[in-house]
Amino acid sequence: MAPHERATALCRFIDASPTPFHAVEECARRLKQAGFARLEEAQSWKEAPPRAFVARSGSLVAWDASRASALEGGFRIVGAHTDSPNLRVKPRANAGAAGIRQLGVEVYGGVLLNSWLDRDLGMAGRVFVRAGASVEPRLMRVDRALLRVAQLAIHLDREVNERGLLLDKQLHLAPIWSLGRPAADLFEGFLAAELGCEVRDVVSWDMMLHDVVPARTLGLHDEFVAAPRLDNLCSCFCGLEAFLQAPAREAARAVPVLAFFDHEEVGSTSNRGAAGPLLKDALERVVLQQGGGREEQHRAMARSWFVSSDMAHATHPNYREKHEPEHWILLGGGPVIKINTNQRYATDAEGEALFARTCEAAGVPFQKYSHRSNLACGSTIGPITAAALGLRVVDVGNPQLSMHSCRELCGSADPDHMVRALAAFFSEAV
Ligand code: ZN
Repeated sequence: MAPHERATALCRFIDASPTPFHAVEECARRLKQAGFARLEEAQSWKEAPPRAFVARSGSLVAWDASRASALEGGFRIVGAHTDSPNLRVKPRANAGAAGIRQLGVEVYGGVLLNSWLDRDLGMAGRVFVRAGASVEPRLMRVDRALLRVAQLAIHLDREVNERGLLLDKQLHLAPIWSLGRPAADLFEGFLAAELGCEVRDVVSWDMMLHDVVPARTLGLHDEFVAAPRLDNLCSCFCGLEAFLQAPAREAARAVPVLAFFDHEEVGSTSNRGAAGPLLKDALERVVLQQGGGREEQHRAMARSWFVSSDMAHATHPNYREKHEPEHWILLGGGPVIKINTNQRYATDAEGEALFARTCEAAGVPFQKYSHRSNLACGSTIGPITAAALGLRVVDVGNPQLSMHSCRELCGSADPDHMVRALAAFFSEAV
C-alpha cells in the first residue's frame, strides 16, 4: 500500500471511530473479516480457534496462536489506547439559560478546551435501553451538526488576545443545541427518537461529542493528516494493519497480540484500562488453550515484548523553545522512540535497541524523543503495563502537533512508516 493510500485508510478508520466503543467495533469488524473469531469472556475458550479476539466495551485483545512453534518466543504485543480527550454528556443532561437549550457536559481527560469552541459537533456513544426484564447496550452516532460550544464575542471580552483565553470547565463549555421549550427538547427524547425506542426505555448512557468534519489530508503536497483523535487512533490503526499482515511463517516463535485499552487519558485504572487485568488474563487463557500451565505462562512472559504505541510530540516551528534542542522530532520523519529516565516512558536501552533495529530491518527511518528537563513529561500505558505484567516494554509513537486538540495534525507518510515497523516487530525481524 502506498503511503498516501495508508493515510487515507487512517482517515476512514478515524471517521468510523468517534468513540472507544466504535473503535473497538471497527477493529472487530476487520478482525472478523480476516477470519478471527470473537470470543466471550464468560464462555469456555478450550475449543476456541487459535486466531481470536475478545472485546470488553472500549478495549480489545486479539492474538494469533495458530503457529506450531508459537509461545517459544513468548508474546509480541502492540498496545495502544482507544480513548481521546473530549466532552461527555452528564447523567442529568438537560440545561439551558436565556432561551437557549443546552446540555450539561463533563470534561474527559486533558482536553485543550479552546479547540472545542465554535465547531460543529455531533454526538456518539452507547445507550442502555430496556429490553423486557433486562437492558441492552445500543451503539449510536449522530454525525450531523447538532451542537456547538459558542465562544464569547470579542466585544464582550476585549482583552482576550492580550491576556489569553480563560475557560471555566463548569461555566463555559455547555454546548447549545435547541431553541425549543425546556419540557419539549429533552435529551432522553432525542436518544429515544434516534434509537427508535420509547423515552421510558432509555435507562443510561455513555455519550460524547465529536467534530463532524471528516479526517483528511492537508498541505501543499498533502504532507499532513488533519483529524480528530489521532492520539491515539493512529496507533490503533497502525497496530491493526500490521497485525493483519503478519505473515503465517512456520518459523515464527512468538504469538502476535494486539492490546487496545480504554481510559488511558484518565489514568488507566478501570476494569478495561491498562492497569486492569484484561491483557494478563487473556494471555493466561491463551497459554492454557495451548496446553500450557503456570510454568509455561511465566516462561512465555519472560520472553515477551510489548511495544506501547502512543503519539509523540513533533517539534513545533512556532515554539521551538519548548523542545529539547538535540531531539527535534520531524513530521514525516518516522516512528519516535520515547525515552525518559524517570520512567514516564518505559523504554530502556534494551528496548531502544530492539525498536531501532526493527526499524532498520523494515527500512523505516526513526527518531528519538527526550523531553526538556525543566518541563513535566506526559506518560503512556507503557510504564503501567511494564509494572503490572513485568514485561519488557518500549514506548514509541508517531509524531504529531496539537496533541489533545479537538483536531490534531500528523505527517501523512508516518502511518505507513509505523505499519511497516510494527509488521517487522510482529514478524520477529529482530
Ligand atoms: Zn495518547
